[in-house]
Amino acid sequence: MKFVRFITRNAALLNVPKHIDYYAKFSPSPLSMKQFLDFGSTNACEKTSFTFLRQELPVRLSNSLKEINLLPDQLIKTQSVQLVHSWFIQSLIDILEFQDKSPNDPRVLEDFAEALVTIRNRHNDVVPTMAQGVIEYRDAFGADPVTCQNIQYFLDRFYMNRISIRMLINQHTLIFDGTTKPGHPSSIGCIDSCCDVTDVIRDAYECAKMLCEQNYLGSPELELAEINAKNKSQPIEISYVPSHLYHMVFELFKNAMRATVENTTSSTLPPIKVKVALGRQDLSIKISDRGGGVPFKKIDRLFSYMYSTAPRPTLGDHQRTPMAGFGYGLPISRLYARYFQGDLQLYPMEGYGTDAVIQLKALSTDSVEKLPVFNKTALRHYKFNQEADDWCVPSKEPLNMAAYKSGK
Ligand code: ADP
Ligand code: MG
Repeated sequence: MKFVRFITRNAALLNVPKHIDYYAKFSPSPLSMKQFLDFGSTNACEKTSFTFLRQELPVRLSNSLKEINLLPDQLIKTQSVQLVHSWFIQSLIDILEFQDKSPNDPRVLEDFAEALVTIRNRHNDVVPTMAQGVIEYRDAFGADPVTCQNIQYFLDRFYMNRISIRMLINQHTLIFDGTTKPGHPSSIGCIDSCCDVTDVIRDAYECAKMLCEQNYLGSPELELAEINAKNKSQPIEISYVPSHLYHMVFELFKNAMRATVENTTSSTLPPIKVKVALGRQDLSIKISDRGGGVPFKKIDRLFSYMYSTAPRPTLGDHQRTPMAGFGYGLPISRLYARYFQGDLQLYPMEGYGTDAVIQLKALSTDSVEKLPVFNKTALRHYKFNQEADDWCVPSKEPLNMAAYKSGK
């Protein structure tokens, strides 16, 4: 038995590039929140989920695998990127093993769910490992603006795809794990169809506050106001993934607290003010601090995967969660917001403070996965980024107007 398994694995391995080419030709199929919810409630059918995922996961994995090849050679060659690449290949092989198996065999479904858990665990460290590769590359070769832009473009798409793959895997494994969850009737997998937004915000605040107190021996208070324009007397609830919302606001609170503490000279810290508003289409969350803001010019840099103002925590240092460090808080949070067609933006007022705004879709039909697709447009992005800017770049030297003087 073991021997046969060994052969099939190697047979699949030989054909991996062919399989990648095949699956990368498909565009991923984005699901809406409503589809995720329907799938987990009335129509929960493990066989359908199995047949969908054994096609869709290879498509999403192969799209990312194709795009990795467009990174600078020296970055691809780093040990870290090679490692991440090998995880993707192995996970693709793991799923390809199910292509000819019958959904009607309960054993197959069981093995598939197990394979998904293995894949999820294998990919746990993709973000810090990839980050390590980028740091190694930057330290060895520097980073010109074009390369920086390409790496930024790549990582946004790569991490977004990763969020989506984890979402698919989580939904399947949570919904079909054979247990009922009596405590959470509104939860379908990792989605809560009645996610209490201010509850999640308060939880994230409390956790950030604890960290802040460990680091700075003090923390700003929270002032929270909610405006439910749809139903004034009701708490604000939307269909959302609470862990995604938590991730975003937790990161924003850590940043707001750090800025507040580090920029306040008086003994009382100004509070962090949060406003949550639910309209017909949008759910908006504004987190305002008085931590001095940042110059407008630097905004792009704050969302860059290659920038943080905090001292870098060492990898593997699991003793204490740092307040800040890898500089990934903002860019990854923005991806979570964008994943279901929302967004996250910072509006700093230098010298005063910062408003961080999260916009999410209020309707589950509008919350549709935003997924990268590897196609000619993406390819062109990497290839033609080198062309000259179509806006003038102001020169550092003042123009010598003497050359234009007309002779009298
Ligand atoms: P990290 O916190 O790990 O440095 P982030 O992506 O969370 O990474 O933030 C990047 C940088 O943006 C921070 O280091 C900080 O300089 C700046 N920043 C973020 N939020 C704020 C804020 N509310 N006020 C002032 N600066 C901020
Ligand atoms: Mg941060």
